[in-house]
Amino acid sequence: MIKPSCYSCRKRFEPSALRISYSKNYCESCGVGLFGGDYFSFAQKPAPTTRKNLAVHSIVFFLAVAGLSLWLWGR
Ligand SMILES: [Zn+2]
Repeated sequence: MIKPSCYSCRKRFEPSALRISYSKNYCESCGVGLFGGDYFSFAQKPAPTTRKNLAVHSIVFFLAVAGLSLWLWGR
């Protein structure tokens, strides 16, 4: 998994350590330096891998169901 990087200092962080402002990621030290206390009102970056895995699992599940129903109809 590729860790997202801070837009300001370009270091890589865990998604939970970043917050998003105008679709750019900022780490806490840069964000507080740039925006002060406003930084803590920004949305936290969601962990992308779990959502992606869930989406992939759902697609695989639906394909399996579709394939199974086609196979049942074909008989
Ligand atoms: Zn930073």
